Amino acid sequence: MSLDNTPRPRPGHDELVPSRYALRVGEIDVMVVSDGVLSLPGAMLGHNADPAVRAAWLEDMFQPPDVLEWAVNAVVVRSSGRTIFIDAGMGEEFPDLPRAGRWVQRLEAAGIDLASVTDVVLTHMHMDHCGGLLADGVKERLRPDLPVHVAAAEAEFWESPDFSRVSMPPGFPDALRRTGKRFLKEYHSQLRTFENEYEVAPGVIVQRTGGHTPGHSVVRLASGGDRLTFAGDAVFEVGFEHPDWYNGFEHDPAEAARVRVRLLRELAANREALVATHLSFPSVCHVAVDGDVFRWVPAFWDY
Ligand SMILES: [Zn+2]
Repeated sequence: MSLDNTPRPRPGHDELVPSRYALRVGEIDVMVVSDGVLSLPGAMLGHNADPAVRAAWLEDMFQPPDVLEWAVNAVVVRSSGRTIFIDAGMGEEFPDLPRAGRWVQRLEAAGIDLASVTDVVLTHMHMDHCGGLLADGVKERLRPDLPVHVAAAEAEFWESPDFSRVSMPPGFPDALRRTGKRFLKEYHSQLRTFENEYEVAPGVIVQRTGGHTPGHSVVRLASGGDRLTFAGDAVFEVGFEHPDWYNGFEHDPAEAARVRVRLLRELAANREALVATHLSFPSVCHVAVDGDVFRWVPAFWDY
């Protein structure tokens, strides 16, 4: 007999923590939905960093020396009658990460009907961003002609992806390749590719940045003088203080660091809000300049 004591949130409405956070950007409704948490080796934070400096950073953040809990945030946007998913969490693609993959149940708990969605935008095709769309029963509940907006360079990349510059734990490259291929196959007829920029709805613009993956994109929201950027994987928690650290999942880490610095400078200058996939939930924050680097300023709770 075996007894499984793994704590698991119960599905539906009775999770202790609701794992969603709503805000407005002018006339645009935004909801950050947590897919859960990934526990990943600390070295993934910066594989070009001195291990002692990396361990000191984790200690300063009150984290254990060898592991970091990465939030996985996805976003639902409503603008001008459209309901848009920005990324879709992990799905069931990598069963070794049992604390992620809760996107669908948390959407349901938030009362969001999959059939009501008019568009999907993917920042990129790593499994923690597109996997939810491959989870059991999801595709069948979405509109059959649901457009999935993704950079042309991203769709092309996953035909034959280059993993030569990443630094991932064993098993991850294969799982990511597998998911990318499967996604291209299952959603092939629904992909709507763009070169550099596409306006999904009024005030909702997806822009290719490259770096993390060749087609990595961010989503810019603007309405009535308010602005918010969903940065996908362009920014990680450590990236404010150490923007030049190479994250293990970056396929072109030097370019990813340039993208990060450019974006953080811009957000610090125009003072707009930032949400990113792996910043601690709900991740709504602002960016301040701090000497040569940046400072993460979490938003004040105002709901
Ligand atoms: Zn990611």
